Amino acid sequence: ESKKSGRGVVRVFDESMDESIRFRRQIEGGLSKAIANGELRLVFQPIVAREKLEIVAFEALLRWKSPEYGNISPAMFIPIAEESNLIHELGDWVIDEALEMLQQWPGQYVSVNFSPRQFRRQNFVGHVVERVQRAGIEPHRVQIEITETAIFDNAERAADTLYRLRQMGFRIALDDFGTGYSSLYNIRKFALDCLKIDRSFIDGMGKERESAAIVHSIIHLGRALGLEVVAEGVETEAHLQALRLAGCSHYQGYYLARPLEADVATEVAHERYMAPDEIEPAAEPLV
Ligand code: C2E
Ligand code: MG
Ligand code: MG
Ligand code: MG
Repeated sequence: ESKKSGRGVVRVFDESMDESIRFRRQIEGGLSKAIANGELRLVFQPIVAREKLEIVAFEALLRWKSPEYGNISPAMFIPIAEESNLIHELGDWVIDEALEMLQQWPGQYVSVNFSPRQFRRQNFVGHVVERVQRAGIEPHRVQIEITETAIFDNAERAADTLYRLRQMGFRIALDDFGTGYSSLYNIRKFALDCLKIDRSFIDGMGKERESAAIVHSIIHLGRALGLEVVAEGVETEAHLQALRLAGCSHYQGYYLARPLEADVATEVAHERYMAPDEIEPAAEPLV
C-alpha cells in the first residue's frame, strides 16, 4: 500500500521532470532561431542622477516575443541560454544593438548586462573591445554590469578581467548588489565604478528596519570607496525621498521610468531630464 503510493509519487515527479526538460528544450530551440527571425529587441531604462533627475545612462534590457509563447521574461530565458553557448550568440547581439543606440543619444552611456558565463568566456576583454572598436564607440560610454556570482567563483581571474576592462576605459557595475556572496573585504580587490543596490532592499526599506539599514550601509560603503551607487527598483516617491536623504546619488525604477522602446528612449535622451508621468513604457513580459 505505502509502496504503491510511493511509486506513484516517484512517477509523478519523473513526469514533471520530463515536462520541464521538454519545456527547456523548446525554449532553447525557439531562442536559437529568435535572432534570425527578428523576435528579439532591446528596451532601455533610464538611470537618473540627483538633484535634477538628469538621465545619465540607460540600462539595456532584452525582450523576446516568441511566436509560440508570446512575451517571455529574460529572467526565464537567460538562465536557459546560460546553460549553452547560445548565451554568447545572444550576448553578441545585445552588445551590438546597444552600441548602435549610442550613436543616437547626446551623451548618455549604455549599461549592458553580462551573465557569468559570458564574463568567464575565453578572451572576454578582447571580444568586447573588438565590438566596441568596430562600432567606433568610446569605451567610457559602455558600462558592463555583472553580478557577484560572476566574480566570486574565481576571484583572481575576475579581478584581472575587470582590471583590464577598466584600463581600456569601460565602466564596471556590480549588479543586484547585496544578494550574492561578496564580502566587504573582497569588494576592494575589484576594479569597480558602481554598485547597484538590489531592488529587494529598496522594496523592504519602508517595511523593515533591516532593509533600510542595508541600504544605508551600501550607500556609505560606496561613498567610502569612491563608487557610484545606483538604487534599483525605485517605485515610489517615498523611495526616492528616502534614498535622497540617505545620500544615494543615482536611481532607476518604475517611479522614474519603466524600460522604454528604443525610439522613446532616444526622445527622452534628448530631453535630458526625467519627467516621470508623460512617458509611454514598453510592454512588459507576461510570463
Ligand atoms: P537586472 O539586470 O537586475 O535588471 C533590472 C530588472 O528590474 C529588469 O527586469 C527591470 O525591468 C526591472 N525593474 C526596473 N525597475 C523596476 C521597478 O521599479 N520595480 C520592479 N519590480 N522591477 C523593476 P527584466 O528586464 O525583466 O530583466 C530581468 C533580468 O534579466 C535582469 O535583471 C538581468 O539579470 C537579465 N537580463 C535582462 N537583459 C539581459 C541581457 O541583455 N543580457 C543578460 N545576460 N541578462 C539580461
Ligand atoms: Mg542589470
Ligand atoms: Mg539588477
Ligand atoms: Mg536582477
